[in-house]
Amino acid sequence: MEGTNTKNYEVIIIGGGPAGLTAGIYASRARLHTLLVESALLGGQMTTTEMVENFPGFPQGVTGDELSRLMEEQAKKFGMEIVTQEIIKVSIEEDMKVIQTHESTYRCEALIICTGTEYRKLGVSGEKEFAGKGVSYCATCDGAFFQDNKIVVVGGGDSALTEALFLTKFVKELTIIHRRDALRGTKIYQERVLTNPKIKFLWNSIVQEIKGDMIVHSIVVKNVKTGEIKEFETDGAFLFVGLSPRTQFLKGIVQMDGGGYILTNEDCETSEKGIFAAGDCRKKLLRQITTAVGDGATAAFSAQKYLEEKE
Ligand code: NAP
Repeated sequence: MEGTNTKNYEVIIIGGGPAGLTAGIYASRARLHTLLVESALLGGQMTTTEMVENFPGFPQGVTGDELSRLMEEQAKKFGMEIVTQEIIKVSIEEDMKVIQTHESTYRCEALIICTGTEYRKLGVSGEKEFAGKGVSYCATCDGAFFQDNKIVVVGGGDSALTEALFLTKFVKELTIIHRRDALRGTKIYQERVLTNPKIKFLWNSIVQEIKGDMIVHSIVVKNVKTGEIKEFETDGAFLFVGLSPRTQFLKGIVQMDGGGYILTNEDCETSEKGIFAAGDCRKKLLRQITTAVGDGATAAFSAQKYLEEKE
């Protein structure tokens, strides 16, 4: 059902992670009539990060929840409106951008896309079937269900390493399964996982199947060097094999690379005039809260300039 109420804004931000909230702070401080549309919790992936250690200004670290709460409070302080609605369609009518949700239709002159990424699926048999029954993509959400259990974490990047470290608070034993013999994640996380007595490693290995009945009981793993296939007992499988951008709804509107990341210039301008992209959903070298925040500020400033030049 398409929305019936139509409201106009100067700026609409889609996505309420660090990029979106920062864009909101900058746009509303520039006194632009601004709406932020988020389909779930504000804070994005920050809310599923237990401790953020690399955001400047917090030498002792800050929990992802607290950082999200502070950014939200700061964005609201300057008058930005926020709605929790799911976008079903974005279109362009002359130079207005039209955003449709199930409840409403919003129109704006400048649109800032900050939709971030979601965890990529492994694509093996049993993954879908056991999602929420032992297969998880979020340690902070599900870790406590695995108290004193034996689990596996798949992947070798920062997500796999930080989530594995968090999960050791609950589990008896944890095995990181990685397709190569060297980890990809940041060195400090590598040092911590490699010296953690609860963490074991299965190198050069890929998961072929996740098995169980009502819940997960085992996984089938293949050694890519020897070809050997083994079945391991496990109570859970946490999968962290990379990210996919949430940009499907913009296909045909802005240019993207082959992976669906939005192409922008350094001012966060996309191929479409008046549409900007910030944070993890755009093609860039480093996806961190720090870089998302920088993008958010740049995109909002570019949107402000666009509106001024349009007048
Ligand atoms: P990532 O860096 O892309 O790592 C994905 C991992 O999964 C890699 O080790 C990759 O193996 C493996 N992989 C990919 N496809 C696979 C498959 N089909 N089967 C088995 N393994 C597969 O993704 P990420 O760890 O989610 O991190 C994404 C971004 O967020 C990064 O920029 C990261 O720095 C950032 N991040 C930062 C923090 C932090 O700083 N605290 C925390 C989380 C995420 P290969 O190594 O062989 O490619």
